[in-house]
Amino acid sequence: MSNCIFCKIVAGEIPAQVVYEDERAVAFRDINAQAPTHVLVIPRAHVASLAEASERGERELLGHVLDAAARVAAQEGLREGGYRTVINTGAGAGQSVFHLHAHVLGGRPLSWPPG
Ligand code: 5GP
Ligand code: ZN
Repeated sequence: MSNCIFCKIVAGEIPAQVVYEDERAVAFRDINAQAPTHVLVIPRAHVASLAEASERGERELLGHVLDAAARVAAQEGLREGGYRTVINTGAGAGQSVFHLHAHVLGGRPLSWPPG
């Protein structure tokens, strides 16, 4: 997708602090971190949201992104203290970039319920 900011990060056209990458996923630090560790895990392939991925039958991709999120959390040292993995779906739920991404947040106490 030519006008998608996360596709541009995947393509290296926009700089990002990449912390993990594999054949299907890339993870980089959120530009507006909400916790001491705040990483976004995205598929290399453009898909707008969790809803769209599911509708397209992208089960393997979704599993891959979630597994990558756990790998990133471990790599970031969050395994022991715990972390939160968030996928906002739709503008009403706070999604502002329409390329699927899982937030990985940790490094501070996280309250529940989220806002
Ligand atoms: P959403 O609100 O869609 O769940 O999350 C989008 C996230 O992307 C936000 O937390 C925002 O700070 C982050 N973000 C938006 N643009 C950029 C960017 O150009 N670079 C990086 N690293 N993060 C971005
Ligand atoms: Zn994209």
